[in-house]
Amino acid sequence: MSGLLDGRCLCGRLTYRCDGEPLVTVVCHCKDCQRQTGSAFSIFVVVPRATLHVGGDTLATYVTVGADSGEERQRQFCSKCGSPVVTLLAEQPELAVIKAGTLNDPSWLSPTLEVWCGSAQPWLAPIENSRRLARGLPA
Ligand SMILES: [Zn+2]
Ligand SMILES: [Zn+2]
Repeated sequence: MSGLLDGRCLCGRLTYRCDGEPLVTVVCHCKDCQRQTGSAFSIFVVVPRATLHVGGDTLATYVTVGADSGEERQRQFCSKCGSPVVTLLAEQPELAVIKAGTLNDPSWLSPTLEVWCGSAQPWLAPIENSRRLARGLPA
């Protein structure tokens, strides 16, 4: 699996490598992800936090609060080019969430879960065989 979860921001000053296994690939339709990405949704891969190694000197953090959980989300991005790269969830400190659009090779991605479908863009078709939740994951 080496190299499967390696990636970088748009300008390349932030890079990361992950020597763990992907736990789950998720599409999130929440309004915060839509705004942060400037797109219809964000797609991310959840990995064990201890296996993710971020390098570079432009890592910045913007903290949001989950609508359901009330818990903080550290949205980490590149302060040079603005790419969102990693999100850390306060209630799940053992996990890290990689914004999958920053992977060097996203070709293997296969989302199995869609969350916050209640705020999904209406023109988007459901992903085949995905589990769909109207809101976030139940605690
Ligand atoms: Zn950058
Ligand atoms: Zn989201």
